[in-house]
Amino acid sequence: MAYKPCPRCKKLIPQGMTYCPDCKLIADRERQERLKEKQKRYNHSRNQRNQQYRAFYHSKAWKQMSRARLSFTDWRCEAHLDKGCTGLAVEVHHIKPIQTVEGWEHRLDWDNLEAVCTHCHNLRHPEKLHKSDPDVIDLRTVRK
Ligand SMILES: [Zn+2]
Ligand SMILES: [Zn+2]
Ligand SMILES: [Zn+2]
Repeated sequence: MAYKPCPRCKKLIPQGMTYCPDCKLIADRERQERLKEKQKRYNHSRNQRNQQYRAFYHSKAWKQMSRARLSFTDWRCEAHLDKGCTGLAVEVHHIKPIQTVEGWEHRLDWDNLEAVCTHCHNLRHPEKLHKSDPDVIDLRTVRK
């Protein structure tokens, strides 16, 4: 059988192996650690981004802008996506989501905004539908 030195400890190992069994354990552990580090960094930047979005939604500029849009449309839903539309706009939707680079740039652009009722807003965000939104229930009971 042909042998070669283990790249870590230089012990001779069969040609087909990458490391000797001892070094393989260490190498695997190191790879795991690097993966964990990568994941940690990713989560960290995601948290930072989420904080950025939260701060934006609480900012004075956004509150002024969204209120301006709602009163401009006379609190009427601009989406009218289907029969479930209550017609009463209570939220302002970003047509280009602020979670994207382009949407973030246009977060306060009039043309990127849409006054929507809660129902239509949920339809605009199908990924959110499964979450029970108390606003939706409230509005339905109000209308009965
Ligand atoms: Zn080795
Ligand atoms: Zn609507
Ligand atoms: Zn939205």
